Amino acid sequence: AIRIEDLSKTFETAAVLHDFNLDVRAGELLALLGPSGSGKTTLLRIIAGLDFPDRGRIIFGRDDATRVPVQQRAVGFVFQHYALFKHMTVAQNIAYGLNARKRSERPEKAEIKRRVGNLLDLIKLSGFADRYPSQLSGGQRQRIALARALAVEPRVLLLDEPFGALDAQVRKDLRRWLREIHDRTGQTTIFVTHDQDEALELSDRVAVLDRGRLEQVGTPDEVQENPVSATVLKFLGDTI
Ligand code: ATP
Repeated sequence: AIRIEDLSKTFETAAVLHDFNLDVRAGELLALLGPSGSGKTTLLRIIAGLDFPDRGRIIFGRDDATRVPVQQRAVGFVFQHYALFKHMTVAQNIAYGLNARKRSERPEKAEIKRRVGNLLDLIKLSGFADRYPSQLSGGQRQRIALARALAVEPRVLLLDEPFGALDAQVRKDLRRWLREIHDRTGQTTIFVTHDQDEALELSDRVAVLDRGRLEQVGTPDEVQENPVSATVLKFLGDTI
């Protein structure tokens, strides 16, 4: 499990997160839902170790990870824009995080190959190991990016609008696909979106953010049936 404790973050003059508290349960898929500018990406970057909070703590299991740099934090992430390495094949991209480890922590070559094969099966792109990113569709690239994030067996998988740049149909397919992958792997996952349908359909629990504060957290049914504030009601209103 991951505990986010009394987290505050200010950029220059603007406070982006205020005394933010949230527990993420082991194995759940949690959606962070909120309007643009509510602090979702900032929160995810702090959990990843790409940014540090002014106050508060991030606890992974029993370990205080607040000041642990991203390379040592055992997180996987996928952002909206494709970040595959263009000069590497699909297999090399997926193996990247494993190959980047220092020798004493790096799996054997054959073990890396086996893991890459399993991940290609998982994402249903088995024949694609030797292709380059330029030969893939946008949706395929995001599936590879997900496999690359999973390859390091992260403590948490962080997804920031991973399907945001894709068209509506592909987005819908990938949503279903991600849910399937999640059910199969039980990987603890935090998924950022400003799309309420995506959040409600995909997640075990939804955390609704507004102006850097946690408005409500609960299962999609709980949040829809008992919105605790006008903001939550307004944000989920269209689907009720
Ligand atoms: P979106 O859905 O549009 O991505 P968000 O909920 O992810 O929004 P954040 O990206 O976390 O929101 O941004 C929250 C606020 O913090 C915004 O007002 C943004 O302008 C500000 N902000 C974020 N990063 C920085 C930074 N590096 N320097 C200054 N201000 C920043």
